[in-house]
Amino acid sequence: MQLYIHVPFCRSRCGYCSFYSRALPPGGYGVELLRNYLNGLLAEISLWAGRLGRPRLETVFFGGGTPSILPVASLELILKRLRKEFRLEKGAEISFEGNPESMLQLGYAADLAALGVNRLSLGLQSLNEDMLRFLGRPHTRREALAAYEAARMGGIANINLDLIWGLPGQRLRLWLDELKTVVSLKPEHLSCYNLSLEEGSPLRPALERGDFELPGDKEQSSMYAYGSEYLETAGFLHYEISNYARMGFKCRHNLGYWEGRDYLGLGPSAVSTIGDKRWSNPRDLDAWLNRTARGLPPPECEILDRNVRVLELIMLRLRTDRGLRLQAYRKLTGRDFIADNKELIHGLHRKGMLRIKNGYLSLTAAGMLVSNSILEYLFTSTREKLAALSAPEREQSEGPALEGPSDFQGRP
Ligand code: SF4
Repeated sequence: MQLYIHVPFCRSRCGYCSFYSRALPPGGYGVELLRNYLNGLLAEISLWAGRLGRPRLETVFFGGGTPSILPVASLELILKRLRKEFRLEKGAEISFEGNPESMLQLGYAADLAALGVNRLSLGLQSLNEDMLRFLGRPHTRREALAAYEAARMGGIANINLDLIWGLPGQRLRLWLDELKTVVSLKPEHLSCYNLSLEEGSPLRPALERGDFELPGDKEQSSMYAYGSEYLETAGFLHYEISNYARMGFKCRHNLGYWEGRDYLGLGPSAVSTIGDKRWSNPRDLDAWLNRTARGLPPPECEILDRNVRVLELIMLRLRTDRGLRLQAYRKLTGRDFIADNKELIHGLHRKGMLRIKNGYLSLTAAGMLVSNSILEYLFTSTREKLAALSAPEREQSEGPALEGPSDFQGRP
């Protein structure tokens, strides 16, 4: 099983972000919030380890928010509780997201490494000061480079750098220059996300008002295509639409999501999927603390019926270089994926946008470039076919049948 821990605090809120987090105030109130969160999280760890029968953990991912806002002593307590309550596999991947401004404390990276963190994902986003300001990032280029250096000096041997492309004013040349600088740092992994301003992100209304413009489609296509090509020639494997890794450094945790493995999410807003059940923790620190303190199961649980699983199989697997196992589609639907999507598949194949090899169908780099349209088409056509198969409707139930002890307190 995989474990995700959501740390719901940031130094300040970035303009493009739609994740759940709160800006942590300095001083006493901030300390109190952190303490309450820590107590809630430790309780939730024990609660779920008990409910699930102390499962084995293959990966642990601290995401957020800004996990590097946590003091080392708090992280030590969390990992100690995890090791006590779950069976953490030898060699488990322990990933930790850090933001440059909070990774600069003396010895912080070395402390993370000493506690067993073996993969750091550093939120660079850009090395251009104007772009950083536009995004509302609380750090400078200089701090980003210093944080990377500090992580290396601290002994973290597997580092991912997060970057955003498709920013206002960014052109192909600027993006390729940025990639060149980043590659010269010799990270093991790069995540390059296209700027996406979801509903609820502070910059979205400004985009709708026309306060700024994003690069046009043609420019964005070139940035993706030439950027991917450059990274591949620099020795990175393009193994997912937005992810590139040196040999042996794919992110095991994220691969698990794309391959449909079970995951437990702890902390406010975290999502879990175990077997055919999916649930989300409250997207509010106080509501989450309240439920956790009372040992309550999640408020709602979605049962993933056959239709949902088929759609997710297609959407998630086609994001990866390995692709969709055709036998997995047949097993779930009793149908042939190629025959079901004959015209599209032949058309894409002719254009060099997909390949079929050893029973897997995957998108080529050219296909990944237009993956949104391909996936949208497949989503609609598959949904129609599944509806015709008169599959049972998606059900809602009261909550997972995973009762914890009623008097559970679990506070340290
Ligand atoms: S992008 Fe990251 S650092 Fe910025 S507000 Fe969102 S979670 Fe916090």
